[in-house]
Amino acid sequence: MGWRPKYKQLCAICKKSHVLIISRGQFPICTACSMKQINQPIEDEKFKAMFGIDQKLYEQSSFLRSIKYNYLRFGSLSDRQVEMFKKVAAELAAPKKEESADEKTKKPKPKAKKPKK
Ligand SMILES: [Zn+2]
Repeated sequence: MGWRPKYKQLCAICKKSHVLIISRGQFPICTACSMKQINQPIEDEKFKAMFGIDQKLYEQSSFLRSIKYNYLRFGSLSDRQVEMFKKVAAELAAPKKEESADEKTKKPKPKAKKPKK
């Protein structure tokens, strides 16, 4: 397939910043614009609490932003999305937390090299 794994595209909202496209079908939106997009009040108490994490975590993770964006758009999330959101948010908030699950300690993690820019 003619899919290039990584390339840069201009942000579709501000048309100023370049966005690194890393997955097929990813919407080209820069961090600043997507932060603005998800910065909306949430009425539902349950989701308000869930999304009330540190703003920095949203800046770090396009995944967390996409979940919140989905909630704002559709007004609900699947159990799976809620679960993943909490998991990723917890991992980002405490990256050095020891894993207690047996399976995880047995398997050595593959080292993924991600150049940070
Ligand atoms: Zn932008």
